Amino acid sequence: MTPLRPSKIVCVGRNYADHARELGNAVPERPLLFFKPPSAVIASGEAIVLPPASSRVEHEAEIGVVIGRRLRHATAVEAELGIAGFTCVNDVTARDLQKTDGQWARAKGFDTFCPVGPVVVEGLDWRTLEVIGRVNGEERQRGNTTQMLFDIPHLLVYISAIMTLEPGDLIATGTPAGVGPLTAGDVVEVEMPGVGILSNPVRSQASP
Ligand code: ZN
Repeated sequence: MTPLRPSKIVCVGRNYADHARELGNAVPERPLLFFKPPSAVIASGEAIVLPPASSRVEHEAEIGVVIGRRLRHATAVEAELGIAGFTCVNDVTARDLQKTDGQWARAKGFDTFCPVGPVVVEGLDWRTLEVIGRVNGEERQRGNTTQMLFDIPHLLVYISAIMTLEPGDLIATGTPAGVGPLTAGDVVEVEMPGVGILSNPVRSQASP
């Protein structure tokens, strides 16, 4: 696919109750938002590079929403019409730095920490999307849009009341339970039926 070049990547934290609980967090009353930098985006097949600054990098399999038209103070109907398509996202996270830093820019923002793809698929129903996370072929995560605390149109309404969403922007809609560590040599996959499999090898920064 043409590499996605979003003007911004808006992520939603704790959008599945089972994942909020597994990390000991309360279920949020409103969407919890944070950013990943566009410089973190890599395509399927490219390597996730483990930074020396972290000793605990984890996968987060997520449903990605790609924006198709400018959304500002969108209604739920406008939000649905503003979706260009869906893709798989791996919200790679340095869990140790997320805890120590308070702000998440470093934990979520290293180069290669946003695998996206393999393609963007139009015409899927946001109500029935499913996402699966695997490490070395073993299933670790499985969730679907019926389990989200805030559904996709609700998220776009909420976000577009804060910031204008531009065509090509990417929304990572949160991860279901089952996050876990990645080590060099692993292959991590995020699959969405109807979209395909986003597959990325993991390597340390020092290795060639
Ligand atoms: Zn996430």
